[in-house]
Amino acid sequence: MSERLVIISNRLPLNFSRQDGKIKFTKSVGGLATGLSSYLASLRANVPQAKYLWVGWPGLPGDNLEVKGLEVSLHAKKMHPVMISAEEIKHFYNGFCNDTVWPLFHSFPYLVSYNNEEWAAYRAVNERFCEEALKVLQPDDIVWIHDYHLMLLPKMLRERLPDLAIGFFLHIPFPVFEIFRLLPNKWRRQILQGMLGSDLIGFHTYDYSRHFIECVGRILGYEHSLGIITTENRATKVDTFPMGIDFSKFYEGANRRAVQREQAKLKKIEGVEKIILSVDRLDYTKGIINRLQGYQTFLTEYPEWREKVQFILVVVPSRMEVKLYNDMKSEIDGLVGEINGFFGTVNWTPVNYRFKALSFAELSALYSMSNIALVTPLRDGMNLIAKEYVASRQDQSGVLILSEMAGAAQELGEAIIINPHHRDEMVEAIVAGLNMPLPEQQERMNFMQRRLQGYTVTRWVEDFIHELTDFKATQRESKLLNAKMRRQISLDFHQAKLKFLFLDYDGTLVPIKKTPQYAEPDTALLSLLDTLSKQPRTRLVIISGRDKNTMERWFRGLDLDLVAEHGIWIREGSASWEIIKPLQNDWKKEVLPILKKYTERLPGSFIEEKEFSIAWHYRLANFGLASMRAKELINNLNHLLAKHDVQVIQGKRVVEVRSFGANKGTVATYYLEKYVPDFILAIGDDTTDEDLFKAIGDRAYTIKVGYSKSHAQYIVESHNDVRFLLESLLENVQE
Ligand code: UDP
Repeated sequence: MSERLVIISNRLPLNFSRQDGKIKFTKSVGGLATGLSSYLASLRANVPQAKYLWVGWPGLPGDNLEVKGLEVSLHAKKMHPVMISAEEIKHFYNGFCNDTVWPLFHSFPYLVSYNNEEWAAYRAVNERFCEEALKVLQPDDIVWIHDYHLMLLPKMLRERLPDLAIGFFLHIPFPVFEIFRLLPNKWRRQILQGMLGSDLIGFHTYDYSRHFIECVGRILGYEHSLGIITTENRATKVDTFPMGIDFSKFYEGANRRAVQREQAKLKKIEGVEKIILSVDRLDYTKGIINRLQGYQTFLTEYPEWREKVQFILVVVPSRMEVKLYNDMKSEIDGLVGEINGFFGTVNWTPVNYRFKALSFAELSALYSMSNIALVTPLRDGMNLIAKEYVASRQDQSGVLILSEMAGAAQELGEAIIINPHHRDEMVEAIVAGLNMPLPEQQERMNFMQRRLQGYTVTRWVEDFIHELTDFKATQRESKLLNAKMRRQISLDFHQAKLKFLFLDYDGTLVPIKKTPQYAEPDTALLSLLDTLSKQPRTRLVIISGRDKNTMERWFRGLDLDLVAEHGIWIREGSASWEIIKPLQNDWKKEVLPILKKYTERLPGSFIEEKEFSIAWHYRLANFGLASMRAKELINNLNHLLAKHDVQVIQGKRVVEVRSFGANKGTVATYYLEKYVPDFILAIGDDTTDEDLFKAIGDRAYTIKVGYSKSHAQYIVESHNDVRFLLESLLENVQE
C-alpha cells in the first residue's frame, strides 16, 4: 500500500496517567487498540516504508496543559492528539456515547438517556475531530474511522475533502429499526447521514449490516443493491468483516515463560477437577449476573459436581464513577458472596472472583488452564474473549459455551451456543461441557481454530482496506464526468451543425420530490432551458414519464419539444401532440382495480393515471412493506397481463404499467430517422432512460444521474451537476 493509512478513533492506543506529577503512558488493552496495534506492528516488520498515522484522544482532559506538551512525543509515535475538555468528556463520552448510543445499540432501550446538551457535545466533539484530522490529512490518504463515538465524522470530512477514501467500522451492534427509531428524528437522520459520508461501512456481522441498510431505507428512503446504498449524489458500500485476533500470539502464548510462571501459580490454588472461566469488562451487556445465577442453579441441581469445579470469574473494572455500574458491582459482589457462603466448604471456594485488569500472561495462563470458557453476554458486538480462548487451546481440548447474542457466535458455530436469558440452557450447557468427551472437544476446537487462524486481525484489516481502496477506485474510474470531459462536450456542442439534447425531467433536471406535483420547474431552470433552446441549430427535447397536460403547463412559452408518458406522446415545437405508434389501452380496465386494491393495502401509495400508462407511486409509504408489495404487484401484473401488449416497469419507488411499443428509445429512433444531428446529448436518471441510452448508443454522449448500473457512458452525481453541465454548454469554449 503506497498511500498512508490514517486511523481515527476516540482513543489513541496508549493510556495516559499522571504519576508523581509526570505523565506516563501504557498500552491500551481494548480489543480495537490491541487488534490494530498488532496489525501496525506486523506492517512495520514486513513493510518498513509503510506510512500510517493514528488520530485520537490521548485519554486525559485536554484542558490539562501538561498533556499538550506531549504532542511532540506523540508525533514521533505517529500519533496526532485530539484534545477533549473535562466538560466534553462528561457530555460527549460519558453522556451521549455511553448513556445514549451504548445502551440503545445494545438493545437496552430503558437505559437510554435523551439529552440535547449531550447530543450537542457529540456533534461538537465530532467537529473537533474533523478539524484536527484536516490539519494532518492529505488528499490521497486512506482514512479509517472507528466506532460509535465518531458516527458523524465521515460526512463532516466528506464535505471538506470530497474525494477522500473514507472507511467506517462500527464495533458494537447496529440495532433493529424498531430500536434505532427511538432516537429523535433529527439525531437518527444525522447519524445515518454521518455514516453514509463513508465509501465503505463495515460491521462485525451480517445482521448488523442488514439492520443498518433497513434503517437507511426506512428513515432516509435510500435503496440498496447488493449492499451498495445510493444517495442523491454518492454510493456507499456496506459489508461484513468479523474482526479477528492475533491468533499466534495466543496460540503460542503458553510457550512464554511469563505465562508458564502464571500457570504454576494457578496450579497451586487449583485442587479441583475442572475450571470454568469467564472474563469481562464490568458492563450490563455482558450478562455477568445471569451467568452467576446460572452457575448457582447448576450447583443446586447437580450437587455431584460440588467441590469438583471452580468458577474463575474475572471482572475488569469499568466506568466505576457511574452509579449503574457501581450498583452492578455491588450486586455481583453480593451474589458471589451468597454462592460462596452457601456452597463453599473448608477446602473449596465455588467462585474464585477477581475484580481487576489482568496482564497478557495472567490472561493467557487462565485461558490455557480452563476446561470451559463461559462467555454469555446479553448483547455483544463481537466478543474477542471467546476467540482468544479458542486460540489459546494448544492441545485443542476445552469447551466454549457462547451466547448467541455475541457477534462471535456467527463464526464459532461449533461452540455450545445458548440463549443467555434462560438459566436452564446455561445449566444444560455447563453439564454438557463438563461431560464432553475429549475427541469431541478437539474436533470442535479444530474447526474453530482453523477459522480463526485463517481470518486473523491482520487479515481483517487488509480485507477492509482492500475493499475500501477497490470500491474507491471503481468509483473514481467509474464513468464520473470530469472537468476535461465536460469541456470536450462543450467544445463539440459549439462546433456541431445540428445539436439534439434529450433531457429527462424528474431526478435529472429537478430533484425527486415525495409528491410528484411538487416538482414543478423553478425559474432558474426555465431560464436555463429557454437560453439553451435559443442556441443556434439546437433542438431541446424534454422526454419524461409525465402526462402531456402537466408538461404543457410547466413548459408553456418555451421553444421545446416535449415527450410525455415515456415516449408515447410527442409535441414538436408548437405543433400538436401526436402518438408515435398506434397503441392499445384496453388493458387499463383490468389493471386499475388491482392497483386500487394495492393502494388500499398500502397507506401512502397512490395512482397516477395517464392515457396509455398507469403509475403506482409508493414514495410516501412504509419502506419495507412497500418494497414487498411492489414485488408482489409486479409478479401479479406480469402474470395477469401476459396476453396484453403492455410493459410493467419498476422505477424509483414507482411501478408503471404502459402500453408496449413506445418508449424513450423509440422516440430517439424516431428523431434520428428524420434528422442527422452531429451532436447528441442524452441525460436521465431512471430505468426508463436506459431505453434511450441503448437506442442511441455510441452516436451520443449519454449521461446517467446517480450511481447504479447503466448503459450510459458517464455518470454525474445529481441534478445540480446536470444543470452545471448545461450551463457550461453556453460558455464560449475554445480549443
Ligand atoms: N483484556 C485484557 N485484560 C483483561 C481483560 C481483557 O487485556 O484483564 C482484553 C482481552 O484480551 C480482549 C479485550 O480485552 O482482547 C476484550 O474484548 P471484548 O471484545 O471481549 O470486549 P469489550 O471490552 O471490547 O467489550
